[in-house]
Amino acid sequence: MPKVVFNRMGCIGCGVCSSLCPVFWQMSQDNKSSLKDSNEVKPGYYELEVSPEDVECNRNAADSCPVNVISVE
Ligand code: SF4
Repeated sequence: MPKVVFNRMGCIGCGVCSSLCPVFWQMSQDNKSSLKDSNEVKPGYYELEVSPEDVECNRNAADSCPVNVISVE
């Protein structure tokens, strides 16, 4: 399964990911984005397995993140 990986500590809260892919990304009250339903695999790092049809949305978010803290593997 494809996996989305998020280094949340590096997020600058621009909101692009939640605009492009709101099914998976949502801005939180601490002004950083959150990857919905993901698991924190080590402090500040979150991962979520997604189905192949959900890769494009998350890849758009990853490609548009100005600080490159999202990746799709
Ligand atoms: S696009 Fe990147 S910097 Fe902007 S809110 Fe999303 S994760 Fe944070």
